[in-house]
Amino acid sequence: MSVWSPLGASLLCLLLCQAVLNGQQGAASWHGKRPARTVIRGALVIEGNGTPAAGPKDIVIDGNRIAAIVSVSPEAATKGDLKNRPQADVEIDARGKYVLPGFVNLHAHLQDERAGRAMPVEYCTKLWLASGITAIRDVGSNWEKAKLWRERSASGELAAPRIFLYRGLTATDPAAAASLVRRYKEEGADGLKLFGLYRDVFRSIAEAADTAGLRRAHHAGVEETNAWDDIELKTSTIEHWYGIPDAALADRVQGFPPSYNYSNELDRFRWAGRLWREAGAARLEKVLEGMVRANVAWDPTLSIYEASRDLEKAQNQPYFREYLHPSLAAFFEPNPANHGSYFTKWTTEDEVYWKENYRIWMAAVKRFAELGGLVTAGEDAGFIYRVYGFGYSRELELHQEAGFAPLKVIQHATSNGALALGKENELGRVRTGWLADLIVVNGNPLENLKRLAIHHGGIEWTIKDGILYHAPRLAREVRELVAEARGK
Ligand SMILES: [Zn+2]
Repeated sequence: MSVWSPLGASLLCLLLCQAVLNGQQGAASWHGKRPARTVIRGALVIEGNGTPAAGPKDIVIDGNRIAAIVSVSPEAATKGDLKNRPQADVEIDARGKYVLPGFVNLHAHLQDERAGRAMPVEYCTKLWLASGITAIRDVGSNWEKAKLWRERSASGELAAPRIFLYRGLTATDPAAAASLVRRYKEEGADGLKLFGLYRDVFRSIAEAADTAGLRRAHHAGVEETNAWDDIELKTSTIEHWYGIPDAALADRVQGFPPSYNYSNELDRFRWAGRLWREAGAARLEKVLEGMVRANVAWDPTLSIYEASRDLEKAQNQPYFREYLHPSLAAFFEPNPANHGSYFTKWTTEDEVYWKENYRIWMAAVKRFAELGGLVTAGEDAGFIYRVYGFGYSRELELHQEAGFAPLKVIQHATSNGALALGKENELGRVRTGWLADLIVVNGNPLENLKRLAIHHGGIEWTIKDGILYHAPRLAREVRELVAEARGK
C-alpha cells in the first residue's frame, strides 16, 4: 500500500494542519506583546522598494528589529520542514501568504471626539493597525493629548501605530511665527503642518524650521502661497492638491463667480471641483518639474474627496453597518458647523465637475511620479464619510486608478512614506536591520488591493515595533466598541 493512500494523506494533513494551528494559536496568545524572537515562516515578501515579490522566506524578528531574512526551499516551506531553519519563541505560519512593510499613513488626525461627542482614540488606532498601518503622521489634533498618545504608543501600552506629530502652526506675524517654530521644537514636535499663511510668514517659518530641523507639511488653501512657494522654500510635502493647480493658473486666480465666499464650505468645495480644468497644461508641467527639482513630495489624499464625485455611494458604504461610530456618524451629517460636511445642496453638476477634476488630478499625480517625484499615501479620515483605516485602503485603490501598478502603490504606502518622514533607514521596508513593522496578508494584495481593506479580511497580522497584533481581533474589538457606543 502506498503511503499516499487517502487515509495516509488525510492523517498527514491532520498532523500538518494541527501543527499549523498550534503555531497560530501560540502566536495569538502573544497579541499585543513583543516576543524576544518571532519567525514568520515561508512568506512571499514584497520589500516595499518597488521590487517584485520573492520567496518563500523566513523572517526573523529579534525584539523590535528584523534580524534576518532567509530564503527557504519551496519543498521545505510547503512541508513545514524546520531542519536548518531559524528557531523562535513564536511562529507565524505564512505559507502562501504575503509579507509587506507596515503602511505609513502620512495624513492622519488622532481624534477622541466628533461633533462634540466622545469617541475613544482606540477606535482610530485599532482601525489603523487592523488596516496594516504601523506609522501615522498626525497633521493636527489636540497637542497635549497627542503627546501622551505618542508616548503610550511607543511604550506599547496603547495599541496604535507609531505616531509622528506635525504640529499645526498658524500665525500672521513673521517674527512671532519664527518663535513659535522654536517653541514647538522644544515642546517635542516632530514637524510642522502649515495652513493659511501669508508669504512673508511662510518664509519666516520655513527658515526657522530648517534651523530647528523640522520638516513641513503644507495644506495650501486658496491663499497667498502656492506650490511655487513650496518649491522655493523646499517644503517636505504638499498635502491634498491645493496650491498645485493654483500655481498653474494663467493669472493665479481661479474664475470664481461674484457670489463666491471662501468661508462657505459649500462654495469652497464646489469650486474646488472646477479648479484643475483651469490649470494650463504647459504651466502645470513646469510646476511639477519644479517640485521634483526641489524635492517636494506629494501626498495627494485622493480618497478624502471621493464623496464629491459620488455622494450617495460615500454615504452608504457597506462597512458603516458594523464599523461606523455614532459620534463620527453625527459629524458626517451635512452641517456647516462641521468641517467637510458641506453636502447641504450637492448637485449632479457638482459630481460631474468633480469626476473631471479627479481625472486631471490623477493624471497630474502620475505625471509627477514619471518626472521622478515622490508620491506618498495619506488618508485624512474623520471627515467627509471617511472612516479611519478604510479610507487608507481606499486611497491605495485610487492610486491604482491613477495609473500606478499595485507594486508601485505598495511603494507609495511604505518606503515612500518613510522617505517623506526622513526615516528611510529604518522604516518602510522588509529589510534586515530595519524596524519590525510588518503585515501578513492572506492572499496576494497585488492581485487585488481590496484584500487590504478590513471588511475583506486579508490582513492577518500587523506587527508594529515587534509587537504582534492579530488583525481580526482588533477588528472585532472595534465592532464591539461601536455596538456598545450605539447602545448608550
Ligand atoms: Zn487633514
